[in-house]
Amino acid sequence: MVQYRCSNCKTQLEMDLETLGLTCRKCGNKIFYKKRPASKKTVTTD
Ligand SMILES: [Zn+2]
Repeated sequence: MVQYRCSNCKTQLEMDLETLGLTCRKCGNKIFYKKRPASKKTVTTD
């Protein structure tokens, strides 16, 4: 699941795949930021 946030009205959308022609349902904006889940870097030193 990939989360996008509208660059105009900040509406969050969730998409399973990257969809071409993604349009904000609220304002019709077509520019989105892709929200990446914070990847935890786990370092194990033993
Ligand atoms: Zn919007």
